[in-house]
Amino acid sequence: MKRTVLAMTRLLPREMDLLEQEFEVIHLYREADPEATLQHRKNDVQAIVSSPGNPIRRNLIEALPALEIIAQYAVGYDNVDLGAARDRQIKLTNTPDVLTADTADTALALTLAIMRRVVEGDVYIRVGKWLNGPMPLGVSLAGKTAGIVGLGRIGQAIAKRLAAFEMQILYTGRTQKPDMPYQYYDDLATMAAMCDVLVLSCTGGEGTHHLVNAEILDALGPDGFLINISRGSVIDEAALVNALKNRTIRGAGLDVFQNEPFVPEALQSLDNVVLLPHIGSATHETRTVMGKIVVGNLLAHFSGKPLLTEVL
Ligand code: NDP
Repeated sequence: MKRTVLAMTRLLPREMDLLEQEFEVIHLYREADPEATLQHRKNDVQAIVSSPGNPIRRNLIEALPALEIIAQYAVGYDNVDLGAARDRQIKLTNTPDVLTADTADTALALTLAIMRRVVEGDVYIRVGKWLNGPMPLGVSLAGKTAGIVGLGRIGQAIAKRLAAFEMQILYTGRTQKPDMPYQYYDDLATMAAMCDVLVLSCTGGEGTHHLVNAEILDALGPDGFLINISRGSVIDEAALVNALKNRTIRGAGLDVFQNEPFVPEALQSLDNVVLLPHIGSATHETRTVMGKIVVGNLLAHFSGKPLLTEVL
């Protein structure tokens, strides 16, 4: 008999077909009344496929007595209650490495977009403003300093890219990395005061909640730019809106938000911010490989083989 998988998110069609060949799949995201479906099928669910937008809280984990594994379709897993998963000895897998380059590219796209006014330039033509004169000037990347918060896999890929744009690289995080050619700061506020661009590429969750608050934005200062591809929870969004409104920082490029897919109206109405709908890993190539890893982990688990990318 096929095992039952609760899919809380979509995979690409080919990987979803693969999943359906091997498992009975409950497509929760397309149910009109997901709560009722969960209630009806709770005793059957042996695995969950989830992504950052799907909260896997203790009450859900405890409501699924047959649950054995959560296969996260992402590298970050701050949406999963790790304590609850550990208590039930539930396995957890993610999709590291394969999305590093695309996510780093997204950070670069945001940096270029906000500093060189790329999105504004596109609109400038479309609304006919160019006919009345040239656009206001942007800011050079070359010769500026970028501070990376979280020099992990993605942070290192961002550093490499920004260095190729002739920027000086600083970083902060929980640990210094002696093999890295960049200057380490153990204090975020001190580093923020030293940089023109602050890039967030750390993990989300409790440890980094509101790491970037009014004090850090003040330290970044009126010429500073903030780029976030990590998680919305890392920034105090209200403080960021104030800083952008009052021009106490110069601009921001954001791929992630506190309450996705809802982006505060206050942010949407500002012209010194570029907004993306959480597309860090959103390419055909990367999502294909991520889907294969999700299915591979589930197959490995249920055939007693080692998991491909084990977190817990
Ligand atoms: P890694 O685990 O390789 O890197 C995480 C980094 O975060 C590490 O450098 C770690 O520091 C740092 N970190 C953890 N806690 C803290 C803290 N309290 N203060 C400062 N730094 C901290 O993960 P990846 O690079 O693969 O991914 C990073 C994150 O990027 C993911 O967790 C996810 O949230 C986000 N992401 C977003 C995507 C998007 O679509 N926008 C796509 C993919 C990922 P240390 O090295 O010292 O432990």
